[in-house]
Amino acid sequence: MAAKNILRMGEPLLFKPADPVAEFGTIELKQLIQDMFDTMHAAGGVGLAAPQIGVGLQVVIFGFEKSERYPDADSVPQTILINPVITLLGNEEELGWEGCLSVPGLRGEVPRHLRIRYQGFDPNGLPIDRTVEGFHARVVQHECDHLIGRLFPSRMRDFARFGFTEVLFPELV
Ligand code: ZN
Repeated sequence: MAAKNILRMGEPLLFKPADPVAEFGTIELKQLIQDMFDTMHAAGGVGLAAPQIGVGLQVVIFGFEKSERYPDADSVPQTILINPVITLLGNEEELGWEGCLSVPGLRGEVPRHLRIRYQGFDPNGLPIDRTVEGFHARVVQHECDHLIGRLFPSRMRDFARFGFTEVLFPELV
């Protein structure tokens, strides 16, 4: 168990749909999740999807109390979400800045649904069912996009709002 190498944009696995987890509560699944937390914490991220460390399974983790990467964001509860399904609620969208550990050094302003319901399972197969909004909803949409082979630049509409973090947000570097 240790921090793993994070695949960067260009790796074919990042653009492939992930497979559902078939068996819960296994040692393999728990090891994968531990590796994901170790990797996310070592990189200072707020979320990570299994394909980012080269595992094509529908597993995402996210959550933080305070984030250096997103200093203005409200906290999001630490969550392990497996085989997720997102239901978009309403038509309201919100623009917000995102980065990605697989797109290092860059940020973009991405439209996301303001409110969503997400369902899935925890590592023991117990159901998760939450209705959330704002940055929490944004993080879930970003992480679950990794499971269908999408990275945030492909959700952007205005590429004048895409650039290097050190240029856009010198105070974060
Ligand atoms: Zn990402």
